[in-house]
This record gives sequence, C-alpha cells and structure tokens, in this order.
Amino acid sequence: MASTSDPKNLDDLLDRNVLWAQRKTRDDPTYFVRMSGLQTPKYLWIGCSDSRVTANDVLDLDPGEVFVHRNIANVAHTSDMNLLAVLEYAVEVLRVKHVIVCGHYGCGGIERALGDDRSALVDYWLQPIVMFYRKHRTVFEALPDRQARLDLMCEINIEMQVRRVAATPIVENAWVQGRSLQIHGWIYGMADGLLRDLGPTLTSLAERDAAVSIDERLLQPVEPRSGVRRHAIEAFAPLGREL
Ligand SMILES: [Zn+2]
Repeated sequence: MASTSDPKNLDDLLDRNVLWAQRKTRDDPTYFVRMSGLQTPKYLWIGCSDSRVTANDVLDLDPGEVFVHRNIANVAHTSDMNLLAVLEYAVEVLRVKHVIVCGHYGCGGIERALGDDRSALVDYWLQPIVMFYRKHRTVFEALPDRQARLDLMCEINIEMQVRRVAATPIVENAWVQGRSLQIHGWIYGMADGLLRDLGPTLTSLAERDAAVSIDERLLQPVEPRSGVRRHAIEAFAPLGREL
C-alpha cells in the first residue's frame, strides 16, 4: 500500500512501478519492446470508473489489447465529446469489431440515482437513470427489497447504454458501410469476479431498430443463456445464488 502520511510524496508508487517493470521484463524480456509498437486492440470497453472494475484485469488482457473509456455508471451521453471521440477513434481508426458496455453490480452511481439526494454535479450526469427509475418506480417497488431494485437498475442501465451507443452516428455509419461491429452489454459481479452477458448484442441497423425499447424490455422475460441471463423481474436471485 502506498503511504498516505505525506501527500506530496508518492515514492511508494514510483517504487512499485520500478519493481513492476523489472518483473515484467524478467518474465518476458520482449514485453516492453512489443508494447512500444502500435496498439491494435480488438475491443472497446465502455465501463464504470469504479476502481474495482478495470478492463484489463477482469478480461485478463495485456495492455494494448483493449481500448478503454470509463465514467461514473458507464453512461453513454450522446453529447459527451469524450465518449464520442473515443468511440470514433476505436471504430474508425483502430477498427475494433466489438464494443463492450460493461457495468457492475453494486454500482455507486446507480445507487445514487435511486436515492433522493440531488445536490451534486454527478446528479446531472446520472439524470437518464434517475428519469428511467422514476418513470418505472412501480415496477421497481414491486421487487422484494432495495438490493433487488439496485441490481435490476444496474442491469437495465447497461442495456440502455448499449442502445445509446448503437444509436450514435459513428456506429450507424459503420453498419451502413457493412462493417462488422458488435455492441455488447455485460455486467460484472463484484462478489465472484465473473462477467455476465446481458444482451442484446446488436450487430446491425436492422437488429438495433428491431430491438424492443428499454421501457418494454423492463417488462419482458429474458431466457437464460449460459446460465447467466434470467427473468428481469420475477424470481430475481441475489448475486451468487444461481452459480
Ligand atoms: Zn459503478
């Protein structure tokens, strides 16, 4: 752990970096030679800023293998120049074929959106989630407890953002040109370290336009796939029980 006794002195972190670089070189003498070349990631990860969910770690990928954008609650605001610039670069320059929108259970941003405090800048950021929750409050309140409401909103938010990414002109343009580009919606379980595919995986304009709205989706049963998808409303099992 880095010392916090002197905020101006982060030597602990720099020392850790040296040891890390030495360890990497010892284990793989050409590691940094390879890393100094051009990056050719196959995936764009749009995830939460939560410090516990880092793309390379949970995917077990080396640097250079996944292009990353993160923000609180993995929201895809269509006016967010940061996200749009990253998405455009990933799709148009890096030519990634997979965009993974990945949220996680226990998301503090989602928890904030479900609460009543609206006193911070982050509440503007979370506004689409807040509005969705308020619109469907009766559905959420029919769930057994607050944890179930939080888990469901974490899942629904990911699907909402998959649809938003798929609606950007950047993705639309790639699909119009007939390029292979898939938009995935995944969720990460803090308690077990596992990723779950929530779907739908959108691969074309036709699929995007045929997909039910996120409002309809909330009320639809979801068939289990690989044991990780489940009905969104009924028989909601706390994380881990089904594994
Ligand atoms: Zn989060």
